[in-house]
Amino acid sequence: MQTAQVAVEVLEALQTAAVVVDDSNVMVQATTAAEEFGLQPDRALIELELLSLIDLARSTKSSQRVEGAINVGGRAAKVWVLATAAPLGPGYVILTLEDRTEARRLDETRRDFVANISHELKTPIGAIGLLAETLQGATDDPEAVLKFASSLQREASRLGHIVQEIIELSRLQAATEVKNSAQCRLADLISDSLERVRILADSKNMRLVADLDDSILIEVSYEQIATAITNLFENAINYSDPGGQVGISLKRADNFAEIVVTDSGVGIALEDQARIFERFYRVDASRSRETGGTGLGLAIVKHIALNHGGEISVFSKPGLGSTFTLTLPLTASSEDNE
Ligand code: ADP
Repeated sequence: MQTAQVAVEVLEALQTAAVVVDDSNVMVQATTAAEEFGLQPDRALIELELLSLIDLARSTKSSQRVEGAINVGGRAAKVWVLATAAPLGPGYVILTLEDRTEARRLDETRRDFVANISHELKTPIGAIGLLAETLQGATDDPEAVLKFASSLQREASRLGHIVQEIIELSRLQAATEVKNSAQCRLADLISDSLERVRILADSKNMRLVADLDDSILIEVSYEQIATAITNLFENAINYSDPGGQVGISLKRADNFAEIVVTDSGVGIALEDQARIFERFYRVDASRSRETGGTGLGLAIVKHIALNHGGEISVFSKPGLGSTFTLTLPLTASSEDNE
């Protein structure tokens, strides 16, 4: 028992979730972290998966591990844990638990991301290969050469766009703090973003209507917020029929700046609204491809909002249009009283 005591003290110091069970599987010791899992000292351990791991450690006289979803401490929700059982002496076994839910979720996200990237890159790469091959066979037809060369150029620029957005998103996800933030007048930043989409709007004969409170000063990464707003504008234009109107408003709401982008475009069904902020999620993949979309634009907006302590939300009705609201926290010095 002396050994068990020392082991638990060490694990307590390391903030590890650990319990020591006696030969009848009663928990005689538990660290604070184990109690947070719902494992209480002086009670019998009841989780079947953990009991069989402990039995195995006892019978083989060696340390054993298992990883899986377990209802630890009688809780309703399963937790993904890595459990290790090691024999300690006559009948006693020490069991440690590591909550790997978050690590597993990250692993899954990473795996999905890599699978999605490979899929997204395959299409333009395949097209480039085919076009190059066709070009080789068309050397005696200058008109065809021109046509294929311009398609080649389009696919290459599409590929470049996807890669650029992937890099941007990875950078945003890796960042724990916003770099290069400086105070700026939010209305100016929004007007600047409007200029960036002016040509696109003109090409579809669309009006951009702004109603901006120009007294709001905010400390943000100028480039990131301009990217987020530009992405929202581009979507509003791309997912609307020609001749429509896109509205942008900026106002103060308590301690937040509220930026609202409204369109009267195709709209988004309720079941898709929760998913459009996921990487590569597109409601209508062919329409998105037509407009040069990558399915990454809103994921980028979401990360920029999160990195700034803000939020992005959507309200939309299919056939009527969509409203995206970006809220950004203001600091005490954000009122321009001059
Ligand atoms: P994409 O590059 O495909 O535009 P986004 O991440 O920006 O990717 O958007 C994801 C999907 O959400 C789009 O493919 C589109 O289906 C939908 N969407 C985004 N903005 C709008 C909008 N303003 N109106 C209608 N649908 C939209």
